Amino acid sequence: MARMRPVTPRIREPMLSYNVAALLRAAPGTARSFDISLPTLPIADDVRLAASVEGDVQLSRAGRSILARGHVRTAFIEPCARCLVDTAAPVEAEFEEEVLPSIDIDTGLPVDASDDPDALRLDDHHELDLTEIVREAISLAEPLVPLCRPDCRGLCLECGADLNADPAHRHDDDDIDPRLAALAALRDRLT
Ligand SMILES: [Zn+2]
Ligand SMILES: [Zn+2]
Repeated sequence: MARMRPVTPRIREPMLSYNVAALLRAAPGTARSFDISLPTLPIADDVRLAASVEGDVQLSRAGRSILARGHVRTAFIEPCARCLVDTAAPVEAEFEEEVLPSIDIDTGLPVDASDDPDALRLDDHHELDLTEIVREAISLAEPLVPLCRPDCRGLCLECGADLNADPAHRHDDDDIDPRLAALAALRDRLT
C-alpha cells in the first residue's frame, strides 16, 4: 500500500520590500510597477482581515528620492449592520510616500539626515520596506458598512431573534404583556 506523503507547503514571507538601487541610478522619472499580494498582514489589534491584501505599487525616481504610490484592497471582519453576524467589509486604501536614501548611491557614503530627521528612509542596502506604509494606509481606511447579504432581514426589534434564520418569526399581540398592549397599539398608530 502506497504511503501518502504529506505535501510540504512552500512557506513564503510576505514581501513588501524592494531594492531600489538600480532605480536610484536610472534617469529621473523612471518608474517600476509591482503587484502586491499578501495572504495576510497584521494591521492592528482590533482589525481582523477577511481577505488577502491585493494591489499594486509604482516606485519612481524623483530627484534623489523614491516616490511610492500604490493602491491596496482587502476586507475587514465586521459585524453585519443589521444582524451583527461577522461578515467581510471591503476596504480600499491608497498611499503616496516619498522615501529618502540613507546611503548616497554614487559615493556609498551615509547621507546627512539631519535636514529631514522625520523622513522615511531606505535602509543601508537601498531597500524600501513598504510594510508600515501599507499597514497604516489600511488601518486608516474606512470599510463600507457591511451587510452579510443584500437582503439581510436583521434582528427582531421585539426580542432580538435572527430573522434570517426564521423569516416567519413574528409576535402575536397575545404574546405581549397586557400592560404593554396599549403601548404597542399606540406605537402601531404612530408608525
Ligand atoms: Zn446580516
Ligand atoms: Zn421577536
